[in-house]
Amino acid sequence: MSDLDNKTNMTDEVILQVKKLQTYFHIDEGIVKAVDGITFDLHKGETVGIVGESGSGKSVTNLSIMNLVTTPGKIEGGEVLFHGEDILKMSDREIQSIRGNKISMIFQDPMSSLNPFLRISTQMIETIMLHQKLDKKAAKLKAIEMLKLAGIPAAEERIDCYPHQFSGGMRQRVMIAMGLSCNPEILIADEPTSALDVTIQAQILDLMKDLTARLGTAVIMITHSLGVVAGMCDTIMVMYAGRVVEKGKTADIFKEPKHPYTKGLIKSVPRLDKENSERLFSISGQPPNVIDLPPCCPFYPRCHKAMDICKKQYPPVQEFENGHCSSCWLYA
Ligand code: SF4
Repeated sequence: MSDLDNKTNMTDEVILQVKKLQTYFHIDEGIVKAVDGITFDLHKGETVGIVGESGSGKSVTNLSIMNLVTTPGKIEGGEVLFHGEDILKMSDREIQSIRGNKISMIFQDPMSSLNPFLRISTQMIETIMLHQKLDKKAAKLKAIEMLKLAGIPAAEERIDCYPHQFSGGMRQRVMIAMGLSCNPEILIADEPTSALDVTIQAQILDLMKDLTARLGTAVIMITHSLGVVAGMCDTIMVMYAGRVVEKGKTADIFKEPKHPYTKGLIKSVPRLDKENSERLFSISGQPPNVIDLPPCCPFYPRCHKAMDICKKQYPPVQEFENGHCSSCWLYA
């Protein structure tokens, strides 16, 4: 069995629907359409990977899902339906009962989320007491259980340590334990391994995959590396300049990528099964300046297949089999 033939816990039940989401930043130089009409469904137990270079809109998509966009950003349109209820229309109180509880997030740098002045026990127990309505003793037992599940040795003692007393990999395990401690239905992981070295990265990805499968949690994984999503995700969305340029099942995307950008990303993943004599491929050029983007294919300056129409009009979405789709004039 290849890495792409993931055993999946995905069911048919859709728990999150993102519809035509638009998040713009109004700055002095113009309008940055950081997220421009993103649409996707997330099923119970599914892992969706959002892939793209820096500035493609991956993180803003997820901040928008949690309704955490701050000025000068503004969610200008679309819906984020969690079990049919639009998160973007909820009161602060309603959102508080979802964030950290039914939908939780883990970040690239655990130190930006962990309070360096508080013991892990204080940080975990407070959250569990607040969201799970447990007393302090039961919340501590739950926190220790989650740390053990996340592979923290001697969890009963280490729960009283401060964040700086853990290594980078162990801190990320603590974050995963915290993120999953309230049994969320959705875990949003924003580049959860890119600050770690390669061996620890693999361990953390295996841990996330194992724990979320056991708990039935759906995952939205943000990453710039297709290598990370290959062994982890059921579905992949490739983003470029605020839009999804290709979407499909992981196996279909790797087997038959459609968009030239996706093809470039796949070619640039190092392969252990290939001869090492060739230079690793890199996509030429730079991501576009996203301020006041013209209505053309933003990838055309870097695309070796670009045609005249690509410089004039944004390509329509073309659907293939099995939910696989892409926006590129080559197929329109
Ligand atoms: Fe290349 Fe044109 Fe397709 Fe854009 S629309 S990716 S420029 S071929």
